[in-house]
Amino acid sequence: MNGLNRRQFIQIFGGSLVLASLPLSALKAATGARIVVVGGGFGGATAAKYLRLLGGDLSVTLVDPLAAHVSCVGSNLVLTGETALSTLTKPLAALRDRYGVQLVSDRAVRIDPFTHQVRLASGGTLPYEHVIVAPGIDFETVPGHNFNVMPHAWIAGAQTTLLKNQLLAMPNGGRFIITIPKTPFRAHSAPYERATVVADFFLRNKPASRIMILDANPDIAAMRRTFNAAFTGIYRNIVQYVPNVTVNSADATNRSLNITRNGVTSIVTGNVVNVIPAQRAGRLLFDSGLVPSGSRFAPVNPLNYETTQFPASNVHILGDSQATGQAKSGHMANSQAKICVDAIIRALVGLPPDSAPKTTAAAFPPITRDTASWSTTTFEFDPATGTMRAVAGTPAEAAAPTKETREDMSGWVTNLLSDSFT
Ligand SMILES: Cc1cc2nc3c(=O)[nH]c(=O)nc-3n(C[C@H](O)[C@H](O)[C@H](O)COP(=O)(O)OP(=O)(O)OC[C@H]3O[C@@H](n4cnc5c(N)ncnc54)[C@H](O)[C@@H]3O)c2cc1C
Repeated sequence: MNGLNRRQFIQIFGGSLVLASLPLSALKAATGARIVVVGGGFGGATAAKYLRLLGGDLSVTLVDPLAAHVSCVGSNLVLTGETALSTLTKPLAALRDRYGVQLVSDRAVRIDPFTHQVRLASGGTLPYEHVIVAPGIDFETVPGHNFNVMPHAWIAGAQTTLLKNQLLAMPNGGRFIITIPKTPFRAHSAPYERATVVADFFLRNKPASRIMILDANPDIAAMRRTFNAAFTGIYRNIVQYVPNVTVNSADATNRSLNITRNGVTSIVTGNVVNVIPAQRAGRLLFDSGLVPSGSRFAPVNPLNYETTQFPASNVHILGDSQATGQAKSGHMANSQAKICVDAIIRALVGLPPDSAPKTTAAAFPPITRDTASWSTTTFEFDPATGTMRAVAGTPAEAAAPTKETREDMSGWVTNLLSDSFT
């Protein structure tokens, strides 16, 4: 266990003290239990790793069609060449080689909560005692939208490279449009972060260029003080922020959008158009009946992340797909994975889940090439409502961007990636 014993691991990375105090003989009861994890992103990779670290000798199988996860966290800096996509690419083989997680390169197409099986696109099935499902997000449709012309770059990888190349090729004096969907969506601060990162790039390289932010929300959805100060201060000549905008349709040929604001419909055109559509849970969850009709995300019990659609089914859902009202972020998915792992191991030895779990989320958006800001939120379980609520005083937000926070940002990204994927 890389020089640390189980108790030290639990204490450092936030597992519960009750689990730390379990005798190893109790954990033996869990030996051999089969846990399948679907999705090797922030939530799934963290869960697979910690199940093996903390769970005695569990059999852990991770299913993902991708051999490596490309992190969205940090990917806005790829757009301006400040970070390489390769540094954000994490091979899942590390989880096999270091922790003994079994990898299955396939797509799960159905979770069957009654027969306790995961069905795979290849036709095979994986039986389980518990399954953790963390497939991230899918997108709602915007009529006329073509991702290959107007990238979303909201799942990192080829889309990020496409948007980067478009921005590089854009003429000085061109217009970059970013559309932001209504909350909730993946990473509430990230579209505004994207605007500040690109605005800094324009100031240095294409100073006559402009950014138009078309936001479906009535105001900046996260870190309002930070981004409002940036858009009305250092970037006031570059960024135009427009709230309450509905995108009705997109025209890929003309790189234009049909929008409505305050009852008035108009057409806006950009040289580069970054349409970030509204989002919903991964398709697998809809196909498996784990998202109720009329909802976009999957309801779960936040004590153990078990679906409320099929109580006591041992189907756990976490990360961006879940609907607990907590942030949809990599940091949060990592945090939820540890609560879920703790609850599964307790269940395997006949214990109830921790009754007072806490989770955390953080963001460190770069504001200029040399500075960054920060925001943190802690959630706690509210027994009166059975939901997670933000603790008093959070979300907390930096008073102003600083150089020191920019250094903290790099350390935070490195640590989060390392704790989740290596
Ligand atoms: C530009 C940007 C910046 C961001 N910045 C931050 C930040 O500063 N801080 C922060 O905490 N978060 C940030 N985020 C958010 C963060 O990236 C997501 O919240 C996080 O990735 C969610 O983790 P997840 O495990 O739910 O999903 P993901 O990490 O997306 O992983 C989902 C995985 O499931 C796999 N999968 C999907 N369907 C199936 C299936 N049927 N079968 C098998 N596998 C499947 C996929 O291949 C993928 O590997 C940012 C996001 C963006 C877009």
